[in-house]
Amino acid sequence: MANAGDRFDVLVLGGGSGGYACALRAAELGLDVAVVEKDKLGGTCLHLGCIPTKALLHAAEVADSTRESDQFGIKASLEGVDMPGVNSYKDGVVQRLFTGLQGLVKSRGITVIEGQGRLVGPRTVEVEGQRYDGKHVVLASGSYPRSLPGLEVDGRTVLTSDHALALDRVPSSVIVLGGGVIGVEFASAWRSFGAEVTILEALPRLVPAEDESSSKALERAFRKRGIAFMTGTPFQSVESQDDGVTVTTKGGDTLRAELLLVAVGRGPSTSGQGFEEQGIAMERGFVLTDERLRTNVDAVSAVGDIVPGLQLAHRGFQQGVFVAEDIAGLAPTPIDETGIPRVTYCEPEVASVGLNELVARERYGDEIETVSFDLGGNGKSQILKTQGFVKLIRRTNGPVVGVHMVGSRVGELIGEAQLIYNWEAFPEDVAPLIHMHPTQNEALGEAHLALAGKPLHAHV
Ligand SMILES: Cc1cc2nc3c(=O)[nH]c(=O)nc-3n(C[C@H](O)[C@H](O)[C@H](O)COP(=O)(O)OP(=O)(O)OC[C@H]3O[C@@H](n4cnc5c(N)ncnc54)[C@H](O)[C@@H]3O)c2cc1C
Repeated sequence: MANAGDRFDVLVLGGGSGGYACALRAAELGLDVAVVEKDKLGGTCLHLGCIPTKALLHAAEVADSTRESDQFGIKASLEGVDMPGVNSYKDGVVQRLFTGLQGLVKSRGITVIEGQGRLVGPRTVEVEGQRYDGKHVVLASGSYPRSLPGLEVDGRTVLTSDHALALDRVPSSVIVLGGGVIGVEFASAWRSFGAEVTILEALPRLVPAEDESSSKALERAFRKRGIAFMTGTPFQSVESQDDGVTVTTKGGDTLRAELLLVAVGRGPSTSGQGFEEQGIAMERGFVLTDERLRTNVDAVSAVGDIVPGLQLAHRGFQQGVFVAEDIAGLAPTPIDETGIPRVTYCEPEVASVGLNELVARERYGDEIETVSFDLGGNGKSQILKTQGFVKLIRRTNGPVVGVHMVGSRVGELIGEAQLIYNWEAFPEDVAPLIHMHPTQNEALGEAHLALAGKPLHAHV
């Protein structure tokens, strides 16, 4: 129980990935910690993000496997998708993890202050009229789904990912506005469930933050799966009818569907939280920090989606741990944002770590080498009937600076890829390491063999 006027070593505003990770590590280090949370511990990732979407995508994979079972000589037919059943599976996963997280937080002796907090002094948070102080305050208030000017989300025909996760039916048709991570993941799941899907993306390619080769491979795979997409096509307007939406693009095309999903990115949840009033430096709503995640105000740090950069749960975890250790005086090494692994969990998956080729060329000019190992030469990928590649970028005579992968399940390979990047391994260091056969990991090994000048199952 917290009492008004309590002073904690660390007072965390927001109990999502960044905030709760900070609290857990700080408590582990013997600090007296409180977390202010207005909704549920676990935040977006656990309740409205990573976990529920990946459960949907797994159910989608089961639907695909059933539909395509004949290819493997198995006789089965997909009778339908029971969305309430899918949701109950998804919600069960979330609930189990939520219960576990609550238990963990309690077991570490962390005080949870329920309610909406507001920064009313540099290191004072007010919650429902009660004030709490921290020797250190960590801002971790997360993000919300953004829309576009003039585009009104009504939760009925025009949805955000929050609404989409609660949908109790499979829509017959959907327009997905935004071909980034969230957009393509929903597009993929809905297509597997049987919906007609069209993605509208203003930039020239799907997953535009990824290496161009990954975008091309994903687009090819989506075309095969019957997922329509229009790239380089900015949105103009939407009109809602009783039974659907009509979307007009800037080029003048009109598209009709039952639903429009707005997936144009996430904004920082910082307005009305008292941050500006306390003199915290901000830009476009994001909280500015130095590389140690300290704001310009003494003993106030910030972590997670409110800090400019990749909006990913594991970045939030790592930032939270970093800040706790920094506060405890352990002098942790600043996080290299480029070394944060990225996975888009659509079918096929897209995974990467390090620089893409364009950025590597900007940075190192012609002093880079690339190799692409086609999953056609990987036994396990053939067994799974997936297509794609592992692409490596190295500095000439130097370490691997980028790994890019496309294919079913390649997200699971990112663990090794991120070790290679973050330990600055040379392809020659990785080449002698033995990869289990037959696994998709072998493709990563083969790509390194090729880049080290000794390809095995690849044409030279
Ligand atoms: C659909 C979707 C899918 C995603 N999939 C992935 C994925 O597969 N992998 C991945 O790494 N990332 C994924 N993400 C991103 C990930 O969810 C976020 O990067 C992560 O949750 C950010 O953590 P955070 O702690 O910064 O914020 P949040 O998780 O948003 O947590 C912030 C918390 O602060 C609370 N809060 C805010 N203001 C106050 C206040 N004033 N007082 C009290 N409490 C407050 C909120 O209630 C919330 O619980 C996904 C996101 C979405 C939307």
